[in-house]
Amino acid sequence: MTVLVTGGAGYIGSHMVWRLLDAGEKVVVVDRLSTGFDWAVPSEANLVIGDIGDQTFVEELLRSNEIRSVFHFAGSIVVPESVSDPLGYYLNNTVNSRSLIAACVQSGVQEFVFSSTAAVYGTPDAMDPVSETASLRPESPYGNSKLMTEMMLRDVSAAHPMHHACLRYFNVAGADPLGRTGQSTQNATHLIKVATQTALSKRPDMQVFGSDYPTPDGTCVRDYIHVSDLVEAHYLALQHMRTEKQNLTANCGYGHGHSVLEVIDMVKRVSGSDFPVAVSPRRPGDAVSIVANADLLKNQLNWQPRYDDLELIVKHALRWEDTLDRRNNI
Ligand code: UDP
Repeated sequence: MTVLVTGGAGYIGSHMVWRLLDAGEKVVVVDRLSTGFDWAVPSEANLVIGDIGDQTFVEELLRSNEIRSVFHFAGSIVVPESVSDPLGYYLNNTVNSRSLIAACVQSGVQEFVFSSTAAVYGTPDAMDPVSETASLRPESPYGNSKLMTEMMLRDVSAAHPMHHACLRYFNVAGADPLGRTGQSTQNATHLIKVATQTALSKRPDMQVFGSDYPTPDGTCVRDYIHVSDLVEAHYLALQHMRTEKQNLTANCGYGHGHSVLEVIDMVKRVSGSDFPVAVSPRRPGDAVSIVANADLLKNQLNWQPRYDDLELIVKHALRWEDTLDRRNNI
């Protein structure tokens, strides 16, 4: 039996491919290379370039490779872009996911793991960690497009013999500890990526978006999860579905947060570079604090994070960024 990874040429998807290969699974990647890179897919996996929105093509792919399990990472992830192009996001994240899910049902796929997001919660009522039972009130087309796919999966699993796991990511960062892959996205906007690029002089300076939030140092707080712990949660979710035949919806975070200034200080300390940082006005749409309650993942899947350490996350991110430099890819 083979596992399909959509978006396997991207940041999180490529880490998943390595994790699956490490576990001895046979892996096929489907990716249209709109943001991913063919070189990010290990040669031991079979990369098929194509669109998950093409149901006929995906059905043929699933059947000819005898695929039983699917990890669905392909999608668009930039919140402000989703505000200016909502229909693009509904097409890419919702309509194309519907085609993929339909192909999976037609081809007898048994397990489906979906990349969801903490954006399905919107702004939490309080600064406490958010649990899976919190209200679902997305505040962007991005969050809506992901929540709609969660809903489809719930209904599909009730009607057909396919189990699903919806994993709601908090802030994903870091890179493969063995240096095999990392975040290579062009024009990235995420804090740790931007800070590591500034530390390595790929950017002249960086901004802190707002220092007047009601937090201890005035900057926003996020729950940064190492990408390797995240893909481990995916693998455990697959095993859970394979053995327990149950669906799952779980937060992926550590249950504690770091402020923007704490992250920047850590990048400065680990890199040894005191790069320029300016305070800018608040970025529209930023919530003050978003931290996961991660008990479900720990209790139900016995998930034991190995890299719950901002210093390690930053070390791995910096090392990857430096590798990219030498490869001259970015
Ligand atoms: N942030 C910042 N400067 C940057 C990038 C991000 O101050 O160059 C802040 C952003 O305003 C937010 C936090 O860092 O408070 C995390 O932002 P990111 O874009 O990494 O993830 P998000 O939480 O928006 O998904």
